[in-house]
Amino acid sequence: MQIKTILNRIQKFKSFVYGAVRLVEGAPVPTLEVEIQPRSNSRPVCSGCGHKRPGYDRSPERLFEFIPMWGHKVFFRYAPRRVDCPGCGVRVERMPWVSGKHRLTEAYAWFLAGWAKRLSWKEVAEAFRTTWDHVFCSVERAVIWGREHQDLSGVKAIGVDEIAWQRGHRYLTLVYQIDSHCKRLLWVGEKRTVKTLLRFFRWFGKERSQSLNFVCSDMWKPYLKVIARKADQAIHILDRFHIMAHLSKAIDEVRAGEAKELKQKGYEPILTKTRWLLLKRPENLTETQDTKLSELLQYNLRSMRSYLLKEEFQLFWSYTSPYWAGQFLDKWCTKTMRSKIEPMKKVARMLRRHRPLLLNWFRAKKQFSSGIVEGFNTKAKLTTRKAYGFRTYRAAEIALYHALGALPVPKTTHVFF
Ligand SMILES: [Zn+2]
Repeated sequence: MQIKTILNRIQKFKSFVYGAVRLVEGAPVPTLEVEIQPRSNSRPVCSGCGHKRPGYDRSPERLFEFIPMWGHKVFFRYAPRRVDCPGCGVRVERMPWVSGKHRLTEAYAWFLAGWAKRLSWKEVAEAFRTTWDHVFCSVERAVIWGREHQDLSGVKAIGVDEIAWQRGHRYLTLVYQIDSHCKRLLWVGEKRTVKTLLRFFRWFGKERSQSLNFVCSDMWKPYLKVIARKADQAIHILDRFHIMAHLSKAIDEVRAGEAKELKQKGYEPILTKTRWLLLKRPENLTETQDTKLSELLQYNLRSMRSYLLKEEFQLFWSYTSPYWAGQFLDKWCTKTMRSKIEPMKKVARMLRRHRPLLLNWFRAKKQFSSGIVEGFNTKAKLTTRKAYGFRTYRAAEIALYHALGALPVPKTTHVFF
């Protein structure tokens, strides 16, 4: 059997034929070259307008990289024809295996992009002996195609989230679809300002925004403002995951301050290495951690009182009636305001301010578990961390869409996997 028989099976072009396949002598990496010829009597297609046009001349031969095979790099070798187009002038013809001025064939780009879902971009480049830039470029092409072809109908619930990006306080705003039938990343934007989220709604379109039923978000003011303006018909839910994150942050602050204070006063350093102990749910603690926790609870520490307040707050989520949940919330806030622990009081004040939105969680009948946004948040952080070294916003954006966007791919690409 000949190699071109396989090629014809996986990718046959109507107006072109595969010619001789040869091994390139003396190449640094084992390399195969596959000649391509236009089918006789076929007329070239203008790359400008897509119409068949008379031929003008032929450009020098070019190489287009195809999917490597058995440790060999594979190239198509073809001398593109130029057409004489009445509309576009003298133009190079359209070649079905490549788009634009790319050097990688469509097939190879989709192949690399497919692997980039399973491995980091660096690993893909290494595995297929190509460059990081080629992998990036392939993923970018896949994302652009996928976003042009994705179906945005029927989006009823969205979640707005933010992640810190790079060092310092740089943020990305992420908007997810969190419907039970479809969960995916819809949009990424730089920063977390009013303008950022306004850009999402502009992209998403007025009609779709107006038919949203639920919007989930953090208590971040710019988000609240924009959501109230652009999707006022939707039930706005403050996400459980974000609220618990505020409490964890407060505990962290209390613990750090108190540990420092104890040290200065010359007490035993009982709070060292207790950070995770106080942030984890009790049911997730190991036995040793459990013992340590019981020990700590004997001291009247601010950290421990904060911890108990947070654990008590977990009860809030178990209510079914918005009314009784509200009663619980009020009691909890009063108690916390009396605790004299400033970081905790800050959270209580914030919760009081957003009481109606908080209770929307129960009005939405808890159909959105904190798990959805939290799960996406974890994956997004992992993706940007893997993307460490990209440094540019564009690369982070592309990586996030590729990993979390559930973007469609052309049917034909499946044969390469
Ligand atoms: Zn043309």
